[in-house]
Amino acid sequence: MAATVYGFPRQGVNRELKKAVESYWSGATDADTLLAAARELRLQRLAQLRDAGIAEIPSNDFSLYDHMLDTAIMVGAIPARHQAEADRLDRYFAMARGTADAAPLEMTKWFDTNYHYLVPELGPGTEFRLDATKPLEEFAEAGMVTRPVLVGPVTFLLLAKPEPGAPAGFEPLRLLDRLLPCYAELLQDLRAAGAEWVQLDEPALVTDQPPAVLAAAKRAYDALSAERSRPKILVATYFDRLGDALPVLAGTAVEGLAMDFTGPAAANLTDLAAAGGIPGKRLVAGVVDGRNIWIADLPAALSTLGTLLGLAQTVDVSASCSLLHVPIDVTLERDLDPQLAGWFAFAAQKLQEISTLAKGLTDGRDAIAGQLQVNAARRAARAASPIVRVDAVRARVTAVRDTDRHRASPYDKRRQAQHERLALPDLPTTTIGSFPQTASLRKARAALRSGALTAEAYDQAMREEIRSVVAEQEALGLDVLVHGEPERNDMVQYFAEQLNGFLATTHGWVQSYGTRYVRPPIIVGDVSRPEPMTVRWSTYAQSLTRKPVKGMLTGPVTMLAWSFVRDDQPHADTAAQVALALRDEVADLAAAGIAAIQVDEPALRETLPLRQAGRAAYLAWAVESFRLTTSGVDDRTQIHTHMCYAEFGDVLQAIIDMDADVISLEAARSNMAIVDDLSRASYPNEVGPGVWDIHSPRVPSVDEIAAHLRTALGSFPAGRLWVNPDCGLKTRGYPEVRATLANLVAATRHVRAEL
Ligand code: GLN
Ligand code: ZN
Repeated sequence: MAATVYGFPRQGVNRELKKAVESYWSGATDADTLLAAARELRLQRLAQLRDAGIAEIPSNDFSLYDHMLDTAIMVGAIPARHQAEADRLDRYFAMARGTADAAPLEMTKWFDTNYHYLVPELGPGTEFRLDATKPLEEFAEAGMVTRPVLVGPVTFLLLAKPEPGAPAGFEPLRLLDRLLPCYAELLQDLRAAGAEWVQLDEPALVTDQPPAVLAAAKRAYDALSAERSRPKILVATYFDRLGDALPVLAGTAVEGLAMDFTGPAAANLTDLAAAGGIPGKRLVAGVVDGRNIWIADLPAALSTLGTLLGLAQTVDVSASCSLLHVPIDVTLERDLDPQLAGWFAFAAQKLQEISTLAKGLTDGRDAIAGQLQVNAARRAARAASPIVRVDAVRARVTAVRDTDRHRASPYDKRRQAQHERLALPDLPTTTIGSFPQTASLRKARAALRSGALTAEAYDQAMREEIRSVVAEQEALGLDVLVHGEPERNDMVQYFAEQLNGFLATTHGWVQSYGTRYVRPPIIVGDVSRPEPMTVRWSTYAQSLTRKPVKGMLTGPVTMLAWSFVRDDQPHADTAAQVALALRDEVADLAAAGIAAIQVDEPALRETLPLRQAGRAAYLAWAVESFRLTTSGVDDRTQIHTHMCYAEFGDVLQAIIDMDADVISLEAARSNMAIVDDLSRASYPNEVGPGVWDIHSPRVPSVDEIAAHLRTALGSFPAGRLWVNPDCGLKTRGYPEVRATLANLVAATRHVRAEL
């Protein structure tokens, strides 16, 4: 029984990797300096894992930017537009970030995590060629036998997309037979270098897959395991239950399978037992939650492991997935109450838990009696803590009635009341909330933190900014204004800092993409709102204009999705608490005269469970918590919501059920397709499909925006259509924001004249 992990945070204790990479980008340091810093970090990690008792240590889980990008380079899948770049490192970063003349690869979410990977582009003409430099070098430099980690061939192809210009209907998975020889050659090289095991990550197999994909997985692993000279193969799966793919993988000759036994994947235990286990194979059991920050229930994990012992030839202990998704070390949190700190296991603490469990299984519980005692005491303290359970909050959730989740009147009646109050033209124009976060705003925030600026002076700076944002919008001629969100560092953190029950960290950085790291707050206890959070900003903005200013809140689903969520009660209960806190804020905004209130839910789609089986229950609580947030206002208050970063096809019914008066959605890149989808689904309320892809500084012309609007009008009536960008403008600069919004207003006037 050995301890292992599939991967460890890459950034270093003080985000040294971020600094090294960004300093290379800025030209301040050269490639050798960057590569030396990266190597140093890898060697430190290695020592840390070894010292923590991890017996089988991974390699090649490190990345300068992203592991999917590494894999694309490893198999030679380099888009034509990047092939001219001669320097290896510059080409790597060009694919990640783009250059003046070559767009980067698209970026998207890694399954249902907040990590973003770069999407490889493949076409019928793609010829794969192995470049094994990275895995071989990282194996060799370790100075010990490590287990190289690779993205498996099936997941690699399933997550890739057709290259620009590929024939319609081209599926990258068709390239499997061309890709496998690359992997076979790599396995041979790794064996020659001394690798005993290799880990092939296949998380795509925990999503619902048609028989053709399962057949491809079988073909892939039959072929790879038939190679004569290779390390033993561990196929790693995580994030959900393996389901239909379990018998497929079990039926191949691979030597090992890694499975997740936490959260929704706990069902793997019964599935595995029902299948009669995987006799003759090695099972790596992910019993420590790799995605959340709570200490493990060690006795429960031991009992799972005990059951698993009879179901495989050998059983090793691991986290449920790579530790990439949790912060690096809780002992860095010097401001944290030590009692609370004991409740959390970040990556370093999870290593201890895993090696403790391995020791407990090998040497018996007595050998880890001390650890079990500490673990039990900490869990008991958490369960009994007054921070965790607040009776008043619970009583309020219990008292919620179904009518609290329904607006007083149906949409048609509300619409009339809102149109009388707001007196908007057809095709009203608006924005999604944030305006550019300028350097002077960031400076003011830093000055507040360092004490160089008093709270009053900071407030004054924010008011100045709001005044200028309102004036900009007046000058542009927009119909419904926003205050611009200058006071918000982040749309979740801003609220988390003001709500009881949320905890912020100082060093809890988690990689979001490339060199971007976020510090998700932790929901430790019952959530409530001590006082209004946004009212003074919204009312100040409203005082400056006769046009309506939208109130702006982050919805309950997104508050949960971008935080570490408590594991001691259903998410639905936590969401209801957050919803009630936000409901009070909505009521206060309405009472202060704010006529339109937007409750953002950009994360609603991305948190959808990976497998169909879990989706209905999730969508039920997601919709209910949104409605609980927004249903307390009278007919005359217009409720908006906003979603982005996703395909909405799977959640159309949920969008309808949310019953917001207006929803704004990302739509520019898909040429307004969502409007037709909503119309076919008989969506009854108002919609603002985005006409500007804000991910790019490109300024769309009046004609282009007008064309988008005409397309939308092809399937939706003008009286229910809004005009807005795809998302908030905080990452854009003022020049392109002014130019685009001017075009947006002009295009709207043209199209209105045609009605
Ligand atoms: N209101 C937020 C903004 O405009 C919404 C951000 C988002 O959808 N991610 O920035
Ligand atoms: Zn958005």
